[in-house]
Order: sequence, then C-alpha cells, then structure tokens
Amino acid sequence: MSKPKKLALHTCCAPCSTVFLPELIEEGQFQPVVFYANDNIDTEEEYDKRLAVVREYAQSLGVAVVAKPYDHQAWQKAVVGLEGAAPLPESERGSEEYQVNLDRRRARCAACYDLRLSQTAQFAKAYGIKVMGSTLAVSPYQFVDEINAILLDVAKAYRLKAAPCDLRDRYHLSIERSRALHMYRQNYCGCEYSKAEAESERQVRKAARQAAKAALKPGA
Ligand code: SF4
Repeated sequence: MSKPKKLALHTCCAPCSTVFLPELIEEGQFQPVVFYANDNIDTEEEYDKRLAVVREYAQSLGVAVVAKPYDHQAWQKAVVGLEGAAPLPESERGSEEYQVNLDRRRARCAACYDLRLSQTAQFAKAYGIKVMGSTLAVSPYQFVDEINAILLDVAKAYRLKAAPCDLRDRYHLSIERSRALHMYRQNYCGCEYSKAEAESERQVRKAARQAAKAALKPGA
C-alpha cells in the first residue's frame, strides 16, 4: 500500500472532527494534519477552550495539530458590511423577511469560510501539503454548498487538491461520539452574531414549548 498523503484538515471544533479523524486514519489514504484557524470565534477565551479540546482529541489519535494565532480583527475585516442578521424562527420560514435575513447570513458565512479556508491553503502551501479539506461540512447549521464551492475555488487558486464532502448525515454521530468522550460542545457557531442568534432562537423555542404546555393544561 502506498504511503498516505498529507491532508491539511481545517478543523472548526473537536466534536465535528470526531466524524473525520477516525475514518481518515482507518481508510489510510490520507494522513490528516489538523489546522485550527477560527478567527471567527468571538473571544480568545472561547478560541482557546475549543482549541484545547481539539488538541486533546487529535493527540489521542496521534494526529498533529497546528493552530493559527487568534486574530478576531482579521475576521471582522473579512465580514465588513455583512454584520448581524436577525434570527430565523422556523415559524417565519417562507416570509420575505426570513429570506432577506437568510441571504445576509449566507453572505457573512461565505466570507467567514473564505477567510478560514484561505488561511488553511496558505498553511498547506507553506508545509508542502497538497490536499486540503475542512470539518465545516458536518453541521446542518452551515451552508454546505457554499463551503464546498469556496473550498474548491481556494484550492484551485493555491494549486492544491480539495477534498469536498457533505457529512450532515453524520451530525448525529458527532453528537454521540463527542458526548461519549465528555467533550465540550459549544452552543453557538462562533462569531458574536451567531451567539446572539443562537440565544434568540433558544428563546423562541422556549416560548413555543411553554405555549404548548399551557395549551395542554386542563381548562386552558
Ligand atoms: S455564523 Fe459561523 S460560519 Fe457564519 S459568520 Fe458566524 S462564525 Fe462564521
């Protein structure tokens, strides 16, 4: 069997990496090198917290980890003009307002993917790694088509090979595996806007649960 090729794997967080690293190691075609580049994360404390879990998990599998120094200003510059977005309650799906907010969020996330994947390509180039991929395409909360299109464009620009994927059907497995390993699981994507959106969406769900409970009360 030929020697596995190195793969620069942009890694957003440890839970998502649980459905990449074991399989990549077992298949033996690639030798993953985890590249942690997530300037999108709102605070350095949170950046370090997610990184510590990534390191611990990757090292338990014998996978090397390289982390980019945190620079949230670089991310803020990348998303200038695309800040914020109102929450997207499911009850409003289909409305014009929902679509406007969704489009705005998609544009901001695309700029965010582009930044992180470009940094991954630069890392791969600097270390002579010829293939790049990302763990981003696990979460159903991400725009996976955008991720893969940007991955292909960035790889082409840097004359690298891309390994696009869509692992949203394995999201449940990432939850199971990370829970079994007692991993820290963040409850928002990373940026300050995603934190506010996630909180607001939780409030909407809570209000809906309370309304449903109240409706079930005798005499209601
Ligand atoms: S929601 Fe996530 S992917 Fe989108 S801009 Fe914020 S951190 Fe980036």
